Amino acid sequence: MKKNLVTGGSGFLGSHLCRRLLDRGDEVLCVDNFFTGDKSNILDLIGNPRFELLRHDVTFPLYVEVDEIYNLACPASPLHYQFDPVQTTKTSVHGAINMLGLAKRVKATIMQASTSEIYGDPEMHPQAEYYWGKVNPIGPRSCYDEGKRCAETLFFDYHRQHGLDIKVVRIFNTYGPGMHPGDGRVMSNFIVQALRGENITIYGDGTQSRSFCYVDDMVEAFLLMMQTGKGFTGPINLGNPEEFTVVELAEKVLAVTGSTSRLVYKRLPDDDPRQRCPDISLARERLGWKPNVDLDEGLRETVRYFRKILSC
Ligand code: NAD
Ligand code: UDP
Ligand code: UDP
Repeated sequence: MKKNLVTGGSGFLGSHLCRRLLDRGDEVLCVDNFFTGDKSNILDLIGNPRFELLRHDVTFPLYVEVDEIYNLACPASPLHYQFDPVQTTKTSVHGAINMLGLAKRVKATIMQASTSEIYGDPEMHPQAEYYWGKVNPIGPRSCYDEGKRCAETLFFDYHRQHGLDIKVVRIFNTYGPGMHPGDGRVMSNFIVQALRGENITIYGDGTQSRSFCYVDDMVEAFLLMMQTGKGFTGPINLGNPEEFTVVELAEKVLAVTGSTSRLVYKRLPDDDPRQRCPDISLARERLGWKPNVDLDEGLRETVRYFRKILSC
């Protein structure tokens, strides 16, 4: 039985990952400081003898014994990561150093939840792993983008310098049940607004694009990546290559919810990337993976979840 550490385990992706690891019979140590995570995400896991929950901030050292580490701790939505930007950088950088130090001591394989944001506002489309990105180092998104870039640097230096078995995944926008309704991301905002009959807030003219991956597909890819041999480090893009503009997403949400909400246009946030779409050739080749859930199906599941938690 493998012992897995999931940092950020009570967050959106982390809670799904904990559940999948327990389902396959593993032990899970979930570490979270509950900044954006919520105990309600993992309520069903508490009481499982193979599940352990520890309130801890990864910017401080952690001494535990584990076989595999999934380092997901970090707020992911712009609203949350810009709330305390210094803490965001610390979480990515000090958190990575501590988790890498831990992995080195216990000889664990360690996976980093990196992000498409490391490509910034990309000049290459779709984005492939060899593209180095176009990132503003001093803007409001930099705490997240540069923090995650520095974490990747640390992962590769621990790999080269100390021979650590690392896995770096670059996650593109992921959605699904378990998202926080007040998270501020486009998917949760639009669904909540549609269900409450409020205006749908389009930032800018809504022609910017994103690609949306359903959470089950993403977690499947995490598990496949962790199983790859020691020589394979990534970075590897994980996401759904089907691309939609923000207005197209709004229209799909209206169709699935049956809502009559109006679209209203708001100021585009600074440094908001124009286009975002993963080239997943590497994931297809090395993991034999591609997303299976399309946006319509994923939206139906996600809307069902939001209806339940909002009681509407
Ligand atoms: P989330 O905000 O739901 O989860 C993050 C979790 O980390 C929360 O439970 C939070 O409380 C915890 N956390 C934050 N700072 C911490 C700290 N210092 N110590 C311990 N725990 C801390 O976000 P998510 O969508 O589940 O994202 C998980 C990871 O995946 C993040 O690292 C994020 O950057 C990455 N990612 C997510 C997406 C996406 O679309 N969801 C895209 C790219 C990358
Ligand atoms: N660390 C940790 N848990 C461990 C081992 C290390 O949190 O089980 C932290 C430790 O506090 C250190 C960091 O990881 O600051 C980096 O450890 P490493 O051994 O790479 O460097 P050093 O201890 O030499 O600074
Ligand atoms: N967005 C929007 N309305 C919202 C929230 C977000 O139009 O209520 C836009 C945002 O400006 C961006 C896209 O949707 O262009 C995706 O935003 P999100 O915060 O979900 O993720 P990220 O920018 O990190 O990809």
